[in-house]
Amino acid sequence: MERPSQPGDIAREAIKRLATRRQPPTPENFRRAYAEVMGKDASLADWPAALRALLRQWDAHQTGLTQARKREMLERVLINFGSNPDELAAKIANLAKNWAETAASTRVETPEQGDEAVEQMSAGAEPAGEPEIITGAPRVDLARPLAESLQAMAAELMDRWPDLADRARALGEDLTGGRPLQDDLAGRLSALWREVLVRAGDDSELLSGTRRLLEALFRNMGDLVAEDGWLQGQIRAVGALLGGQLNYHVLDEVERSLSEVIQRQGRLRDSLREAKQKLKQLIATFIDRVGELSSSTGQYHERLEGYSARIAQAEDMGELGEVIDSLSADMLSMREAMRQTHVELLAARNHVEEADQRIRSLEQELEEVSALVREDQLTGALNRRGMDEAFEREMARAARLAAPLSLSLLDIDHFKRLNDTLGHQAGDQALVHLARVVRQMLRPTDSLARYGGEEFLILLPNSDVAEAEKVMQRVQRELTRQYFMHDNQKVLITFSAGVVQHEGGEDRQALVARADAAMYRAKSSGRNRVERG
Ligand code: GH3
Ligand code: MG
Ligand code: MG
Repeated sequence: MERPSQPGDIAREAIKRLATRRQPPTPENFRRAYAEVMGKDASLADWPAALRALLRQWDAHQTGLTQARKREMLERVLINFGSNPDELAAKIANLAKNWAETAASTRVETPEQGDEAVEQMSAGAEPAGEPEIITGAPRVDLARPLAESLQAMAAELMDRWPDLADRARALGEDLTGGRPLQDDLAGRLSALWREVLVRAGDDSELLSGTRRLLEALFRNMGDLVAEDGWLQGQIRAVGALLGGQLNYHVLDEVERSLSEVIQRQGRLRDSLREAKQKLKQLIATFIDRVGELSSSTGQYHERLEGYSARIAQAEDMGELGEVIDSLSADMLSMREAMRQTHVELLAARNHVEEADQRIRSLEQELEEVSALVREDQLTGALNRRGMDEAFEREMARAARLAAPLSLSLLDIDHFKRLNDTLGHQAGDQALVHLARVVRQMLRPTDSLARYGGEEFLILLPNSDVAEAEKVMQRVQRELTRQYFMHDNQKVLITFSAGVVQHEGGEDRQALVARADAAMYRAKSSGRNRVERG
């Protein structure tokens, strides 16, 4: 078709195109159509389709694309094209298309059963009434492996203690029967294990059988929740505990620390769920607005077609002028309606961004809480569990690289006296102060752990015993510079320490025992000293 060259013809053709496409005659659309008739291409906005595609892909799982990454990509599009709604719609649609193309065949199946139960167990919260639009991590079905382990446990217990076997079986059935978990599930589980341990007494065969089951269970869970950071933290911690000698003190500790963390996580998860719910509502509002936008412009379509017909039949410029006048009036009211909706859309988008921000900070808080499982709450040093992990990592590394690895054990001198004279709270603050000063003197690769009340372990990779000794002496000197302040009084804290270098084949108990012996020598030869072992 030949391209019209007269402005009147171009305008007429542009209006015809708008009518055919059922597009509102907004100035912007008219401008685009006009440009198109003149030979310039223009992309056209289809907000409902763009948002539908976005939501579908947002929920879908694409291999290699995390939720955070998707959010980042969407943000970039919003920043770059936010001021141009038409282009923004096209860009969003394009983004969703790219994600869809990235989607591998692996989609996250939603487990129908046990799923809510697991959420409830881990979060201690009410199960969600509806699926969430945005999921940070895939939901996992922990109930099944747990139940399988319990069945295996029941089989093992059957011969000797049928009553315990029944309890294990009943627990397993509660888990898979689709019944909501009672709050005391963790309590029932640990009570059962404890009972088994008590009855097993010194029966090492049974003990190691129980332990194998637990280990298998935690391995299973670890595989299942590969993407769920906070749960992984707990599982690693429990796994590390189980790696040591299993007895009921250990189980006590597992139960105590897990219930503490789970409670805090439960509260955080509730807030997170709320924030996500809010985000979901906001997105729904956003879509409604876009929907309203297209229906409110619908009425103009028919009129446009009418105009188009009248233009086609126009005999003279006077008639054409009347059509153009009516068209301009429509355009003005249309523009006002569009402006109004645009303002509302922008506000909705801001609310969505705020909710999203809140979700991110809650997620981060949740991650931090999970990390606490490995830290001593008072001093921020690693706790025993965290230290176990550090030991394992560094011993393997030292062996692999044939690099030296040293350990120091320090014990504060006359700490009881400090507590007695200044009070227990001041004692606590003194521990915080000491941990801070020690950390200042360490390299980032060194690890500090609170080993007991006022005893600390320091693991120094790539250091021989002479270097480790120097580090500890530097800490001693620093403590004479940075006093512990109590009621505006300077209090000198000193410690006695033993330093040892890891020897090939030596296990960690033997290494700590040597450091402990050296520390005692430092105590008995006058305190405030560092002794090599
Ligand atoms: P020394 O090691 O020099 O032989 O004397 P000490 O007084 O430090 O000896 P000991 O190891 O027997 O005492 C340690 C004291 O530390 C006992 C306890 O009251 C105190 N302690 C242990 N844990 C904490 C804690 O978390 N906070 C406070 N304030 N005191 C603690
Ligand atoms: Mg002590
Ligand atoms: Mg002491």
